[in-house]
Amino acid sequence: MLGRMVEFDCVVVGGGIHGLCTAFWLAWRGLPRLLVVEQGAPGHTGGSSHGATRITRSSYDDPKFVAMAQRAHAEGWPALEAALGKPLRVRTPGVFFGPARGLFAAWQRATLQTGVAVEALELDAARARFPLLRFDAGDAVLLDHTAAMVLAAETMAGLRTWLAARGVTFAFDTRVTRRQETATAIELSTTTGTIRASHAVLACGAWLPLLENALAAQLVVQRQEVAYVDVEADPAAQRAGVFPVWARIGTEPNDFQYGLPSHDDAGLKLAVHRSAGPGVDPDALPPPIDEGALRTLARERLRPAVRTLRRTERCLYTMTADQDFRIVTHRRTTTVLACSGHAFKFGPVVGQDAAAATLAALGR
Ligand SMILES: Cc1cc2nc3c(=O)[nH]c(=O)nc-3n(C[C@H](O)[C@H](O)[C@H](O)COP(=O)(O)OP(=O)(O)OC[C@H]3O[C@@H](n4cnc5c(N)ncnc54)[C@H](O)[C@@H]3O)c2cc1C
Repeated sequence: MLGRMVEFDCVVVGGGIHGLCTAFWLAWRGLPRLLVVEQGAPGHTGGSSHGATRITRSSYDDPKFVAMAQRAHAEGWPALEAALGKPLRVRTPGVFFGPARGLFAAWQRATLQTGVAVEALELDAARARFPLLRFDAGDAVLLDHTAAMVLAAETMAGLRTWLAARGVTFAFDTRVTRRQETATAIELSTTTGTIRASHAVLACGAWLPLLENALAAQLVVQRQEVAYVDVEADPAAQRAGVFPVWARIGTEPNDFQYGLPSHDDAGLKLAVHRSAGPGVDPDALPPPIDEGALRTLARERLRPAVRTLRRTERCLYTMTADQDFRIVTHRRTTTVLACSGHAFKFGPVVGQDAAAATLAALGR
């Protein structure tokens, strides 16, 4: 695709939510010669941003993320929705629960102290309101009125279309293999040619250590397995608006289960949020999905009988120890490390901050 040496003002490496949102704000701010390089095809399923839906919420175990969610809800997502000309979130209740003495206690403290539209709900009231979900005895419950189901796939496709319509160049199926800074530019070697630019944004997710190994020690890649199930219940009761986005936060890091309504009647989505463990190589061939574990999860958390496991999906988390994000600019490179299994909702504001750092470095 690239072949000859090409000049850009900025190259964004990575076409996931953070790369596309950064490119969105750079284009929005009028940066002319912009390129997005992606090693996969449009919509590929090898990284962290694929799949139809994601959860957005204000409920968190850290007031910093509660505040960041407010910014994303009040500014970030409305800006993207206005630009793409369609809603990217479907409002539905958010239900977050767990043993009051476990990790969930920090959620209650951090969220309720902020005054955001989240309330404590009695267990009996939660069971009555959300009859398809299974709560355990002793669970404390938060009802999040700011939550929604994010239409992730529509967001990704909409951003690619919006960017292309504004003259942003895309190079898909192209891996950046090396970067080298000179006094006047940054040169990126790729599998299809060399690129020269004034600045580069690395939004490479799980592959970041390939191009920025200073951060390698700070991140561990965890593989995730997701199920879509059919249950013995009225389809209307499984859709957004009625069925919540939810998460049960237990007593250890990997004792964290979450789920979403059935979107386009694809079945209820659920999975374990696997944040701890030895880590994987993102390029390694994954083992077969543990369907048995996913069925057990569905039986454990959903009260209606599970009819079928409709579909499964794999995905990657790029974990930092504190589950926090990093946007670091050094000379001609801005590096975005934002995942830890919870950053899609923050895409519009992470992208805004990365774009601002890039434009500052370019003296714009
Ligand atoms: C199963 C699952 C469920 C999740 N649920 C939620 C949720 O409900 N709510 C929420 O807020 N977040 C959620 N997340 C987290 C969220 O999806 C991620 O944090 C986010 O998608 C990370 O985006 P990214 O752009 O950093 O990474 P990616 O989407 O992985 O983007 C990086 C891209 O860079 C490309 N790339 C890497 N290296 C190179 C290179 N050298 N050359 C060219 N291209 C390269 C990769 O192919 C990839 O496409 C979930 C994640 C998973 C896996």
